[in-house]
Amino acid sequence: MTKKDFSEIKELLQSSSKKIVLIPHKNPDGDAMGSSLALYKFLTNNNHKATVLAPTSYPKFLHWLPNNNKVVVFNKRNQQTIQILKDAEILFFMDFNDLNRIEDMKEYIDESDAVKIMIDHHQQPSDFADYTFVDPKVCAASQMTYHFLENLDVANEIDYDIATCLYTGILTDTGSFRFSTTTSTTHRIVADLIDKGAVNHKIHNNVLDGNTMSRMKLMGVALNNLIVMPESKTAFITMSRKELKENNFEKGDTEGFVNMALSVEGVSVAALFTEDLDHDFVKISLRSKGVFSVNQLSRDNFNGGGHINAAGGKVDDSLQNVVELFKKVVSENKEDIIKSEL
Ligand code: 5GP
Ligand code: MN
Repeated sequence: MTKKDFSEIKELLQSSSKKIVLIPHKNPDGDAMGSSLALYKFLTNNNHKATVLAPTSYPKFLHWLPNNNKVVVFNKRNQQTIQILKDAEILFFMDFNDLNRIEDMKEYIDESDAVKIMIDHHQQPSDFADYTFVDPKVCAASQMTYHFLENLDVANEIDYDIATCLYTGILTDTGSFRFSTTTSTTHRIVADLIDKGAVNHKIHNNVLDGNTMSRMKLMGVALNNLIVMPESKTAFITMSRKELKENNFEKGDTEGFVNMALSVEGVSVAALFTEDLDHDFVKISLRSKGVFSVNQLSRDNFNGGGHINAAGGKVDDSLQNVVELFKKVVSENKEDIIKSEL
């Protein structure tokens, strides 16, 4: 985005109080909620009427975030939540780049004449926003939000809540500052967020500890189901509906399981297949190390996308068929996967 774009946005935000809606992607994660709630706080501090409108609910381990109690979950049967969208003068799209990622809310966006601003870090953004602030090299939408505030010359307005939310987003999307997207700039920003009030050890504690017994049991099931395909440096885990139900699955419980598969010695590509509890589809989480793009793998085969090393998708088929499809696709890509980390 150009300097001119930023001065236009600045003018828009400074001219008068606006009705603003911030939208994270469905099943929002720490980065989607962190970036949305950070910008929410900045905008309300500046006398705008802002609402974070989430397409679906999200895991309990994010409910401690500052202003979480102000988040509204969209429901197409609830006229009030539809009205919030219809009334919006500015829409922010946080941590996603395709309207398919917000489910039922999509149709209202198409109709809306609000100014649309995307703040994201995924590859290949769709062209639906008036302003697209995207850098796929950046580790998190929360880091992009920091840069967004920098470009508006208001980084000095980052308060305790904003710093806490942005820190959380960067922490969760970098796997605690370990993925290759974590740069020296990321660390400088995180240092600044600590200076501005983020209490790092408390945030780590809030996000990463507090495992319930049912999650620990599910982890046991996941590890038991782990399958390694050494010839193609790939590992995967399946979680059936039955296994999830038997272990009192709650949203967010399987977060990070795919990384256990990726941590196996010699593995460069990992997948987690989760059968949906209510519908006949399978959610797929993909991770890779090195240059092999699971974003491309997901776009080509699993109706999804994401980043080079972390992507997801969804297939309307049985768990067994999706696993078979995955094995076939992996075999076809074997050479590239083997070369990925060399
Ligand atoms: P996760 O495996 O944690 O659900 O998702 C990893 C990354 O893949 C997310 O940051 C998101 O960018 C992307 N992703 C996950 N699911 C989907 C999907 O269904 N469609 C697209 N386009 N991207 C997804
Ligand atoms: Mn993100």
